[in-house]
Amino acid sequence: MSLELDTPIQFVKGVGKHRSEQLGKVGIKIARDLLRYKPFRYEDRTSFCSICDVRPDVSTLLRGRILAAASRTTHRKRMRILELVITDGSGSLSVKFFNQPYLAEVLKADQEVVFYGIPRADSYSSGLSLANPEFEILTSEPSDSLHNGRIVPVYRRVGNITSRSLRVIVAHLLDGLEGHITERLPGWVLDRYGFPGRENAIRLLHFPVVPDGCQRDSFLLDLGNSRTPMQQRLVFEEFFDFQCGLQVVRNQRESLPKGRSIRITSEIREIVKSVLSFHPTMAQKRVVKEIADDLCSESIMNRLLQGDVGSGKTIVAVQAMVIVVENGYQCALMAPTEILAEQHFETLRRDLGKADYKIALLKGRLPIGIRRKILSKVSEGTIQIVVGTHAVFQKSVEFKSLGLVVIDEQHRFGVIQRMDLQQKGKRPDTLVMTATPIPRSLALTLYGDLDLSVIDELPPGRKPVLTHVRTEADRSKVYQEVVSRLREGHQCYIVYPLVEESEKVEARAAKEMASILQKTVFSAFKVGLLHGRLTSEEKDSVMQQFRRHDLDVLVATTVIEVGVDVPNATLMVIEHANRFGLSQLHQLRGRVGRGSNQSSCFLMSSEGSSSEARQRLDIMQQTNDGFQISEKDLEIRGPGDFVGTKQSGLPRFHFANLVRDRVWLGRACRDAEQWLEEELQGGVESAHLKEILSDWEHRFGLFHVG
Ligand code: ADP
Ligand code: MG
Repeated sequence: MSLELDTPIQFVKGVGKHRSEQLGKVGIKIARDLLRYKPFRYEDRTSFCSICDVRPDVSTLLRGRILAAASRTTHRKRMRILELVITDGSGSLSVKFFNQPYLAEVLKADQEVVFYGIPRADSYSSGLSLANPEFEILTSEPSDSLHNGRIVPVYRRVGNITSRSLRVIVAHLLDGLEGHITERLPGWVLDRYGFPGRENAIRLLHFPVVPDGCQRDSFLLDLGNSRTPMQQRLVFEEFFDFQCGLQVVRNQRESLPKGRSIRITSEIREIVKSVLSFHPTMAQKRVVKEIADDLCSESIMNRLLQGDVGSGKTIVAVQAMVIVVENGYQCALMAPTEILAEQHFETLRRDLGKADYKIALLKGRLPIGIRRKILSKVSEGTIQIVVGTHAVFQKSVEFKSLGLVVIDEQHRFGVIQRMDLQQKGKRPDTLVMTATPIPRSLALTLYGDLDLSVIDELPPGRKPVLTHVRTEADRSKVYQEVVSRLREGHQCYIVYPLVEESEKVEARAAKEMASILQKTVFSAFKVGLLHGRLTSEEKDSVMQQFRRHDLDVLVATTVIEVGVDVPNATLMVIEHANRFGLSQLHQLRGRVGRGSNQSSCFLMSSEGSSSEARQRLDIMQQTNDGFQISEKDLEIRGPGDFVGTKQSGLPRFHFANLVRDRVWLGRACRDAEQWLEEELQGGVESAHLKEILSDWEHRFGLFHVG
């Protein structure tokens, strides 16, 4: 059977049904997925370290013959050890494997083996030994030239498919696909950056060759750092394809008429103004205008509203909703937590009190009768605004004429989910709000299917939160300061992190803390408790009490992380602050500093925090600016962990690294835009573009919007 890029992986020589199931689990389903399965390391098997030259504590590649192999069990800890003695003619070395008894059946005397690991001084003998190295047994099969005498790719094993087997399968695949891996980048791009062609690049990815005239050592160094032309091409291509996909999504959206006409009469303008209980900032005004223009335009709005915590995004959304409702359409407002949904519901009832709108709060666990009643009113169109959590809207909510979806705090939302939601209504306009820790430059390129509005100004009179890093020794002083501020009528949050991976344990710790504090330092005040194990009614009731100032202190887990707005709360103590990530600390701290009073935040740092943790706390002490913090976060953690890639919805790239390859991202964006413009001029999608798009769909999810 001849191979194509989209041939199911099962039919590639050496795979078969069983292995294809294992490969499927790591996302390798068709031939081209395997082409992208990047070696995580390369070994130069043209030169090995001689055993007589082995140094302690340095990664070392050795080739040797097993002289002897013996298994034993230690008496005290009952540990199984397989010990080998290997030689390469220059000397001999001990190699040990711990608690992997099956290896005794694999590694045997007289085998030729390649080992990769770090030799260490052995506490049981005087010499060096290699513990649990990676290894590969060499054979004299004809395919051995794949594994030897060259730079060899080392793959992460998949199920029980070893790196060595993968190498053989990839080699078959490359043979079978010869001539089928067509070029996708335009010639001028290849010329501009001196990139190799696509087929060549993919071949070299798996089986690199030192180019003529290039020094072996410097090539190996570049290879290790992903800086060879082949690797840069693959990085570029990934960004280029991603951009093309986003642009096409965007074009599709812009070409779809929304079939809804929204106008802003002077009467409506007055109502929009009347919901304000303060003077909007210049930034808020500008953003409302941007949104209003979108609402009135022919094409569907897909706008990302970025604004730091406390910058006043809610009121902007409220004004947008007024415009839509006054034009006879419905709105949905989605929040990530029930606490936040409840708060938004209250805000809307307060701000829109004068306008006679019907607003409903859809909670997760409503009595069936009530839920049904609300849903039927929504589908009849008698309820104009529905507030709820994202989860509530995942279930089917039918609208009569949904005009606008507002998604608050979207940093847990990805490109793909956004598109899913869009399919629900009849192409509503969408406003996504975020205090996102994604730096501006990245947001623009990665959310290229969205238009961007930024509130870059805080309401007047805000004083930056004073942040102090404190240790256990300072605890009583911290409490003293809190008490004196409580006496002045302020309120305080005390935040407990997820110490164990269990909400239950976390809730218990917070509960104990609350009860102790109530009896001791805060005996003159009212202490409340909020955690994820409470029912939604209990949560609501605690939040209400805190909002009404029936409670002075709120001991809470991270359930208050996003969105919660109680301007009179000006104090926050974050316990075990060293365990939080930067963006989470920033979000938490954003719960204070929301009024005109000076706020303070105490970051309690446990003994023995890592240097990275101390670095984070220092940054928190230095700045209140969310964008700066996110840049730092990206620097310290790298994009892999950044906000948790899965949650943030950032795409997963195989070759590209958003920090390391930032320059390529910029170039790829520009070039993709230029190329698409040329491609789409005739109004037909070329074969290349079609291939890019089908690939995009395969990797990043659905395409069609509306
Ligand atoms: P976020 O952007 O974090 O969602 P909110 O919309 O919750 O911020 O606003 C934070 C607080 O600031 C709220 O109490 C809100 O009423 C208030 N606020 C918003 N805009 C202004 C403004 N222009 N002037 C004064 N207060 C404002
Ligand atoms: Mg908010």
